[in-house]
Amino acid sequence: MKNEKLKLISEEGIRIDGRKLEELRPLRIEIGVLDKSDGSAYVELGKTKIFAAVFGPREVHPKHLALPDRAILNCRYHMTSFSVDERKPLGMTRREIELSKVIREALESVVFLEEFPRTSIDVYVEVIQADGGTRTAGLTAASLALAEAGIPMADLVAAVAVGKVEGHLVLDLCDIEDKYGEADMPIAMAPRLNSIVLLQLNGRLTKEEFRKALELAKKGIMEIYQKQRDALRKKYSEVSLMEV
Ligand code: UDP
Repeated sequence: MKNEKLKLISEEGIRIDGRKLEELRPLRIEIGVLDKSDGSAYVELGKTKIFAAVFGPREVHPKHLALPDRAILNCRYHMTSFSVDERKPLGMTRREIELSKVIREALESVVFLEEFPRTSIDVYVEVIQADGGTRTAGLTAASLALAEAGIPMADLVAAVAVGKVEGHLVLDLCDIEDKYGEADMPIAMAPRLNSIVLLQLNGRLTKEEFRKALELAKKGIMEIYQKQRDALRKKYSEVSLMEV
């Protein structure tokens, strides 16, 4: 519901958190942050904070679920109960089950599952703090955790939400913009392949707005993709220096 008193964008085109319309929130990426998983990553986009952990390829339990020609990709997107203002119920909500599915489908577009028949690859996305854009930041983190686990992929997945707020197209919506804006469109891409692996739209956009929003998302995604690659490069150059 629209809140009439709330002004989300100033006359000068500055957003409620001080950003310009086409500006991402401050992005922090770290790789190899957890000891017990095969691959892990931490992504912070403004106040949204997410860990991703990957296990596998490993034996499938129960065994009869194993597929003879490829690995099973399991994904679990979960929000901690303290990640949101209104305490989220324990256990998996319908929203979390749906987001686990869309994240899995996006990752299945890039992971070479056929290289690991009869195994499972398990991806956990754990939202520690939510302020909008958790499915997209979760995907950005999950693809890095897969890369760190050494899982062969056609590309990384980088993702961001774009949307319409008070008539303006904006990049990387925060929670309040997501809630009170007119439209919210999360997009994930495999940028090197120029392929869209997730696109959802909540609200309405004209054809022209949709085209512009897609261009804006691509711009944000390329920025995120560059930072993902920098984080991977930093991690492995540190490892190779340690080996010298
Ligand atoms: N949110 C919340 N409680 C919930 C689910 C979501 O407060 O149970 C907030 C949270 O900040 C989240 C935002 O609403 O990031 C937008 O949620 P949405 O379902 O659009 O997914 P997201 O944008 O996080 O991918």
